Amino acid sequence: MLADRTSLLSVSGTSLARASAKVASGSGRDIIDLSAGEISAELPLTIREGAMDAIRLGINGYTDPIGLAGLRHALALRVSRETGLAFGVEEIAVTAGAKQALFNAFMILLNPGDEVLLPAPCWSTFAAQIRLAGARAVQIETRENGYVPQLADLENALTPLTRAIVINTPNNPTGAIYDERTLIDIAELSIACDLWILFDECYGAFTHDGIRHRSILSLVPEVRSRTIMVNAFSKSLALTGWRIGYMAAPADVISAAKALQSHTTSNPNVIAQHAVLKYLLEGDVSAEANLRGQLDAARRAGLDALSSLKAIRLADAAGGFYFYLDMSELLQSQEGRFAGRTADDVAAALLREAGVVVVSGTVFGDPAGLRLSYGLAPERVRAGCDRLVAFFEPPQGSSSLEDL
Ligand code: PLP
Repeated sequence: MLADRTSLLSVSGTSLARASAKVASGSGRDIIDLSAGEISAELPLTIREGAMDAIRLGINGYTDPIGLAGLRHALALRVSRETGLAFGVEEIAVTAGAKQALFNAFMILLNPGDEVLLPAPCWSTFAAQIRLAGARAVQIETRENGYVPQLADLENALTPLTRAIVINTPNNPTGAIYDERTLIDIAELSIACDLWILFDECYGAFTHDGIRHRSILSLVPEVRSRTIMVNAFSKSLALTGWRIGYMAAPADVISAAKALQSHTTSNPNVIAQHAVLKYLLEGDVSAEANLRGQLDAARRAGLDALSSLKAIRLADAAGGFYFYLDMSELLQSQEGRFAGRTADDVAAALLREAGVVVVSGTVFGDPAGLRLSYGLAPERVRAGCDRLVAFFEPPQGSSSLEDL
């Protein structure tokens, strides 16, 4: 018999999509995998050198559970720059990726029975971690408002049990970037209703079409005492496997995170900490520019192909590296091969018929969505999107497609 809490968990849907891509590729077909939550890119030079220097020096042993003092100092400077507020090392914890920072935050903030407002569609780990903390995620629909929550919907969802709100901007899966008015409204609501803000800006390095990502603290500094900021190098430097993230929060939250990490994982990997420290001290402008250049080209190629979709709404793709499709009209139609189908059915058929792997919106709490990642070579993104368009809108006269 396993503990009751195991029933709260299942393997994340994005990992399942990745696994089905592997199986399909194994059969020898040319599969284009647009499901990954990471960018396929070269490892930045400073990261390699920082890690190799640490290994050559024989660096070993535990660090402070929440990271090297030098790294926390460098991160404090970075957060100070981004928010316009002076942060000190006592307000920074280094974590094993953003996931651990979020897990810390939910374990520290939430009591059993508490409620957390979670704009949806949303990355599935938020709800899973909220459940693990014994609390309940209250999803707030955003589709009709460009995937940004409306103040009235947040207010209507408030109860005496509401304890926190999650903001993820730029957003996974939708790519939406929250506008300044929305961030200010959320900040003011949090102050009025005594809520914590969990501000996940893991995709903040990637914004497009001149739209800016703003830290909520830079807009409303008064929320500093009730905000936990979460960030990582996983996306911004394409460093997912190295597992370095961080949280910036009031000192008492950081002390609690230190206690929690000291009894769970201890410090994040020491070599990875040194690698990121070197990057923060020396910078790596060319690696950042290459990554942004690759994503811009891939985004343009994908948008160009997807612009021929007719019955499907494509979100703005303002930030991060995802396209998000809204198939609700298609799936609700009374006739045609998509009538009455779900996003899961469509994702399975896309793999079967077109050899394209995408993530079904059900993973993000949206039965009518599809997420496509453009974190791979522009030609592959173009080819994958072309196949997807041909799947949805087969050229006239082509042999009829199977029923889904
Ligand atoms: N936050 C969001 C919104 C994400 O999409 C992800 C990963 O996909 C993470 C956090 C986790 O990042 P990390 O790999 O640094 O744990």
